[in-house]
Amino acid sequence: MVLKLLILGGTSEANRLAECVGADSRFAGTLSLAGRTEAPRLTKLPTRVGGFGGAEGLAEYLRAGGFDVLVDATHPFAQQISANAQSAASAVRIPLIAFSRPPWQPIAGDRWTNAGSLIAAAAALPREPSRVFLTVGRQSLIPFAVQPQHHYVIRVIDPPEIPAAMVNIEVVAGRGPFEIDAEIALLRAHRIDWLVTKNSGGKAASAKLAAARALGIPVILVEQPGRESARLASVEAVLGELERHRGILAKRSV
Ligand code: NAP
Repeated sequence: MVLKLLILGGTSEANRLAECVGADSRFAGTLSLAGRTEAPRLTKLPTRVGGFGGAEGLAEYLRAGGFDVLVDATHPFAQQISANAQSAASAVRIPLIAFSRPPWQPIAGDRWTNAGSLIAAAAALPREPSRVFLTVGRQSLIPFAVQPQHHYVIRVIDPPEIPAAMVNIEVVAGRGPFEIDAEIALLRAHRIDWLVTKNSGGKAASAKLAAARALGIPVILVEQPGRESARLASVEAVLGELERHRGILAKRSV
């Protein structure tokens, strides 16, 4: 029995899962991307791009495609699609496997301030003009317009739309995974005083935190929003759960 699954992606872990599923004859997978990145990394799996039209649209897509399982491997800060995944899977009555990488935790030497939102992160910056390395994603810049006195260095994959009030902006192109030495060099080259980032967890983007630690730079981390469903924390655990569901369906079809 081959398990047919849809993976909601947009993370490096979703890509890794897609590679594993694509190389495994027990599974027939499709990867779904929102279409935010102009040239996304492709995997072995057939990939569809773009929104479904809300939870109903996703449910219709799952029904029409005869999917057995839905996997939500989206970014920890992508709340809407996760909520849609939950409603759609329950409407179609198929299992939802939710993956999320655990948030980063501070270690000795870190100078972290946690912020409950992007607005709180912007408010936590000092008043005196500083040089801020801002790695919150190109769609999350607007809250920082309230502190236009800072010089912001923004790292993005695709060029951002810069909020009009943010005049001191420098754009650095970059796509993870990043290495610690290169991150230290970047923080030094731009004479960074503060790092602001979402606490996304995972390995691909964690080198900047080690670099900030090495240079004694304070970091403001936006905390992950709570999501309703219980979530697995590793790609291996997701693969184990997929095999479990395959076994259940195989027994039912005998
Ligand atoms: P979001 O607010 O949760 O979702 C907004 C809408 O985008 C959804 O309602 C859905 O449109 C569409 N969408 C999102 N993910 C999709 C997917 N994998 N396949 C098809 N449609 C999808 O999401 P977001 O925060 O804008 O993030 C968009 C994508 O970028 C996500 O896939 C996420 O994994 C990735 N990402 C997000 C962040 C972040 O900081 N938020 C960082 C890195 C990567 P419809 O309602 O029309 O179906």
